[in-house]
Amino acid sequence: MKNTAELDRRRTFAIISHPDAGKTTLTEKLLLFGGAIQSAGAVKNNKIKKTATSDFMEIEKQRGISVATSVMGFEYKGIKINLLDTPGHKDFAEDTYRTLTAVDSVILVVDSVKGVEEQTEKLMSVCRMRDTPVIVFVNKMDRPGKDPFELMDELEDKLSIKVRPLSWPINNGSDFKGVYNLYKKHLNLFNANKTAVERDIVSFSDLQSPKLEEIIGKDADTLREDAELVEMAYEPFDKENYLDGLLAPVFFGSALNNFGVQELLDTFIEIAPTPLPRNTNLRQVLPTEKNFSGFVFKIHANLDPRHRDRIAFLRVCSGVFERNKFYHHVRLNKNVRFANPTSFMAQDKETIDSAFPGDVVGLYDTGNFKIGDTLSEGEMMTYKGIPSFSPEIFRELENADPMKAKQMEKGIHQLTDEGVAQLFIKQPGNRKIVGTVGELQFDVIQYRLLHEYGASCHFRPMPMYKACWVSSNNPAKLKDFLDFKANSIALDKDGLPVYLAESKGMLDVMISKYPEINFAFQSEHN
Ligand code: GDP
Repeated sequence: MKNTAELDRRRTFAIISHPDAGKTTLTEKLLLFGGAIQSAGAVKNNKIKKTATSDFMEIEKQRGISVATSVMGFEYKGIKINLLDTPGHKDFAEDTYRTLTAVDSVILVVDSVKGVEEQTEKLMSVCRMRDTPVIVFVNKMDRPGKDPFELMDELEDKLSIKVRPLSWPINNGSDFKGVYNLYKKHLNLFNANKTAVERDIVSFSDLQSPKLEEIIGKDADTLREDAELVEMAYEPFDKENYLDGLLAPVFFGSALNNFGVQELLDTFIEIAPTPLPRNTNLRQVLPTEKNFSGFVFKIHANLDPRHRDRIAFLRVCSGVFERNKFYHHVRLNKNVRFANPTSFMAQDKETIDSAFPGDVVGLYDTGNFKIGDTLSEGEMMTYKGIPSFSPEIFRELENADPMKAKQMEKGIHQLTDEGVAQLFIKQPGNRKIVGTVGELQFDVIQYRLLHEYGASCHFRPMPMYKACWVSSNNPAKLKDFLDFKANSIALDKDGLPVYLAESKGMLDVMISKYPEINFAFQSEHN
């Protein structure tokens, strides 16, 4: 089947931001333009309460909602856009990192008042690792924020990426008048409008014209100077550099007021990449290849407690995925087929017959999938680049009810397949060490083990510094190290040896004592 036309019209991306910068608001406005929702306010606030206290109802709510909105597909001007949702809370950052492996580009939302924040930096560093193309949207221009030139410098310094403003703001806060689109050469005048899809655009190719005074009054001169300065300070926008992940075009606006959003979307569909090639352990796979292949980047278990089903989210990378056709599950080396693959359009899901590269399909799963699994038409390849980050907090999982040992065993394996946390098994005694990147995950695990598997447990703190995956080209040296550190060695779920370092000092000593051993702080699934 020819799929180039379908490929050309697909854009798969994620919006990333520090919590509160406006990701949810922007998502909602984008869906509004796509006609996927009818009115603002339709996208529920998709995040766990930002307080550190873990409110279980909130966690449940988050899980419920985030499934419906895990993938939001919509059409805009003939383009099929797949927006992949990422959780806002930092304790779920790993989930976000994995979702970033399934997109072809991102839109980064920055709060104009707060500038670059902690999560912005972390998320961007993941994008930089993969050279993901980034468009920056500076939000909340209706508030008195930072000077835009300073903000540009801050973006370049803290995110180690070159920027190129494609629009420029005229004032901010209560004096905010709008933006001048440097790329399309038009003035986009601000009028606060929270719900409608409208805009007030004046084509304006010559900023020197005295007409500018008529429209924006005394701010005309400042805009002229700023525009000149921008053209001097920044090189012309180069799409190739953007696609290589070296240059981020920047837009200004106010998501809440639906301002600058359409401009962003129009440029996005024009410049954002169509589905990109992806690497496997054997070779690079092109989206235009005839044979279907894809990988699982996210799993949600027990969505409906009555049915115990799980959905594996698969990103289609090549060929065409078809319902009821047999595909090869590479890790299990067996053929599988799916009777009810699901696609997600805004808040609805529906069974689909086929899906193209860039699309995400939800596959009902009875326990066959782990994050990182590849499906193909027989080729024994595995998609690369789904990192499993070194956890920072460790606890030993202890069973509180001996009658439910089996349930707990099953539960902890399934939950860690989902990527909620990482599981390490330590001998003797088959001890289960759970490692996470955030405190909240322990609450989630405890709660879900009890409610979904009927197993009660507690966690015993383990004062450990880091988990490092150890390997060496010299098997004798590796054995030497594993024997020497036997008390601090565990196996991950794939059976790979992990050194649970006691402290930074001890780790440094080991690194210098064993130069032939490679200490890695992240492993790739598979
Ligand atoms: P998220 O945590 O990144 O998803 O952020 P939200 O979209 O939930 O926005 C956080 C808060 O900022 C909410 O109270 C929004 O109403 C508000 N907000 C979002 N965009 C704007 C904007 O353009 N201007 C102003 N003043 N507030 C905004």
